[in-house]
Amino acid sequence: MSGAALIDGKAFAAGLRDRIAAIVPGFVAAAGRQPGLAVVIVGEDPASQVYVRSKGKATEAAGMASFTHRLPAETSEGDLLALVRQLNADDAVDGILVQLPLPRHIDEQRVIATIDPDKDVDGFHVVNVGRLATGLPGFVPCTPLGCLMLLEDRLGDLTGLEAVVIGRSNIVGKPMAQLLLSRSCTVTVAHSRTRDLPELCRRADIVVAAVGRPEMVKAEWIKPGATVIDVGINRVDNGAGGTKLVGDVDFAGAGAVAGAITPVPGGVGPMTIAVLLRNTLVSAHRRAGLPAPAGL
Ligand code: NAD
Repeated sequence: MSGAALIDGKAFAAGLRDRIAAIVPGFVAAAGRQPGLAVVIVGEDPASQVYVRSKGKATEAAGMASFTHRLPAETSEGDLLALVRQLNADDAVDGILVQLPLPRHIDEQRVIATIDPDKDVDGFHVVNVGRLATGLPGFVPCTPLGCLMLLEDRLGDLTGLEAVVIGRSNIVGKPMAQLLLSRSCTVTVAHSRTRDLPELCRRADIVVAAVGRPEMVKAEWIKPGATVIDVGINRVDNGAGGTKLVGDVDFAGAGAVAGAITPVPGGVGPMTIAVLLRNTLVSAHRRAGLPAPAGL
């Protein structure tokens, strides 16, 4: 890679976590309690276990209370819903996150719909999806909000920029498109049925790739000087008997053409947990009737 500036999500996320940790003592003094995040995990999925451990550690490192509920894979939907309702009613809990995916016998949508929208720090509840779409304050999914923070840090005002979001998932692609629209970008959402994706991308000032296909986005797809945000996390063969992580963008190729680009790892990935803490702190302030914390 040469040319493009590196968008250092790891450093940005560390700065955000520091700002959060600096705000927490003032909240504790005003509210008489710590902000609290409850994380629920059902089953033994190893990747989910790692995420949940990291979330718990980061929550405590920020001075917040972490409540982790580990349930066996055979937990019934009814028991999980009962736990969610108990967390909804618990005043010490400002944010509730149910780690996805859930075992197949549990209806994810029903679980998400049971979370109190005002504690839904993942922003997946339809009420928060609707709030985002209509410009009302609510919670925005952590990964796309992290991408927006990186973009605004890099580019400032995004008004009028052409943005192409590749991927239309509820977790990344769609909320990313809504966020960019809220910043007055002209947004195109591309997906698996899109025709001539390379040509579409070449028009974009901003490309956000959230597909899950290793190094799919090539140098020739990128307009010179464009800003490229790579959400993809793909584990591939490293050619030496091991594995390595790559994004959805050919980093070396696209990095030679782009103006700025996020690496994988160390780009978008570290933003997700930092934004989760941010959403939890914002929730804590709202629930305690305190003004929104500044600088987040
Ligand atoms: P998903 O599988 O739900 O959605 C993928 C999207 O890509 C779909 O909308 C599909 O239409 C689109 N797509 C598939 N093939 C395509 C093609 N050939 N051309 C254009 N579009 C195509 O995935 P997701 O949950 O949105 O995640 C996307 C990627 O982001 C994954 O690699 C995932 O691991 C990663 N991710 C990272 C973070 C993080 O950094 N913290 C968080 C969430 C997801």
